[in-house]
Amino acid sequence: MKIGKILREDRISISFEFFPPKDIVSEEALFQTIKNLRPLEPTFVSVTYGAGGTTRERTKRIVFRIKKETDLNVMAHLTCIGHTKRDLIKILSEYKDMGIENILALRGDIPIGQEDVKIPEDGCHHAVELVRLIRDNFGDYFSIGVASYPESHIESPNMERDIYYFKQKVEAGASFSITQMFFDNEYFYRYVDLVRREGIDIPIIPGIMPITNFSQIRRFASLCGATIPETLVRKIERASGEEAKNIGIEHATLQCQDLLKHKVKGLHFFTLNKSDATLQIYKKIKEFL
Ligand SMILES: Cc1cc2nc3c(=O)[nH]c(=O)nc-3n(C[C@H](O)[C@H](O)[C@H](O)COP(=O)(O)OP(=O)(O)OC[C@H]3O[C@@H](n4cnc5c(N)ncnc54)[C@H](O)[C@@H]3O)c2cc1C
Repeated sequence: MKIGKILREDRISISFEFFPPKDIVSEEALFQTIKNLRPLEPTFVSVTYGAGGTTRERTKRIVFRIKKETDLNVMAHLTCIGHTKRDLIKILSEYKDMGIENILALRGDIPIGQEDVKIPEDGCHHAVELVRLIRDNFGDYFSIGVASYPESHIESPNMERDIYYFKQKVEAGASFSITQMFFDNEYFYRYVDLVRREGIDIPIIPGIMPITNFSQIRRFASLCGATIPETLVRKIERASGEEAKNIGIEHATLQCQDLLKHKVKGLHFFTLNKSDATLQIYKKIKEFL
């Protein structure tokens, strides 16, 4: 079930992102989350990959376990930084052997504390090279997704340059994109407008991050350059505990409702391996799906 193809159909896609847990207890908790979210009939679920290969085996194991134990369409994230092309082809071949048909092709960020990691000579410096590597070695077998950035990628000198490289990923064979988190839909609408004007016509799925733990999400947002509106920051800071969490969930709900009114092709939830926020949001948006 190729995601690029499904997203071209009429149905609005709902999808969930998980990260590979560190131990067996957290893994069981993740599988409970997956069980809780299954009734929402997601188009696909995805599993992140630690850049530099830090979760290489764990990502693979979780992807395979989801494939084996559920009927969900699962996509593996793969980052190229720190891997040789040979490594990448080996990982991709293993996914192919398991019947995994969807890959989110990423560059990744060098993990903190490992800044001296060298890109191998026979490696990929940017996601576009990974997209090419996949197409050159596996033809059309994989449906390839790539990341895109409504507020521009944090290392980009400007939006034009970022969109220029986004277009290269599409021309290399990406058939859909999932965006970085954003907390003000205007960034997304403006971005999609610019991207379409450049002739990029693949489906662009907004990435939704409900603010359930303010200090954690504020850290993530600042690392990737996503702006949290000041009014929202003040509201959350004035609240505490459950109340603060509810404000974050309510904000994400309003974002989703507005995105659906603007006819997005889907919503991709960064779940942080928990189901409650996503389930609460879903209840309030299902009438729009
Ligand atoms: C939905 C989503 C899921 C993600 N999942 C993961 C994950 O599982 N694991 C993980 O480690 N990270 C993940 N990330 C984060 C991602 O790895 C980082 O944002 C990373 O900094 C950039 O990755 P990219 O694939 O967009 O890189 P690229 O497309 O390579 O872009 C990186 C930067 O280089 C520039 N650039 C691109 N091509 C070129 C070129 N040819 N020459 C010069 N400059 C160029 C771009 O403008 C940009 O500034 C995810 C991001 C998103 C949005």
